[in-house]
Amino acid sequence: MDVKCPICNELGEKVKGITVKHLVIENFVEKIDHKEIYYLCMNEHCDVVYYNLDIESTFDKTKVKVPIWFKSDANPKYICYCSKVTEEEIIDAVTNKDAKNMKDIIKFTGAMKDGNCILNNPLGKCCGSVILEAMNKAIEAKDKNTKS
Ligand SMILES: [Zn+2]
Repeated sequence: MDVKCPICNELGEKVKGITVKHLVIENFVEKIDHKEIYYLCMNEHCDVVYYNLDIESTFDKTKVKVPIWFKSDANPKYICYCSKVTEEEIIDAVTNKDAKNMKDIIKFTGAMKDGNCILNNPLGKCCGSVILEAMNKAIEAKDKNTKS
């Protein structure tokens, strides 16, 4: 079943309770059932991070320990939460260190080392595809700059 964000009414992504339990601030840990499914609101302008069918279980940005990378005011913008690698560091690796592929990115930034994504990543998933996206965007921007 699809559950919409109670504030912005957009569809969120499913997240396991164990992930949510690890990422909400101390005061709310006890309210989280690790066996439940929660949702992450993917709307960059919405303050809600996690929610589920129970309105009491709506957690906005102030109740979560880490900034959510795609939210408009996320700072820092972590891409790899396990190794605390930011979008900026990935762009820097491409622009200034000439990283061309995932292997280079991992080498220059230390991303994806000691991965424990189920607990550290807000979606509870490996950040690989998000890193790839950030890297490709940076490579594209670099190509444009060198051509003009
Ligand atoms: Zn929302």
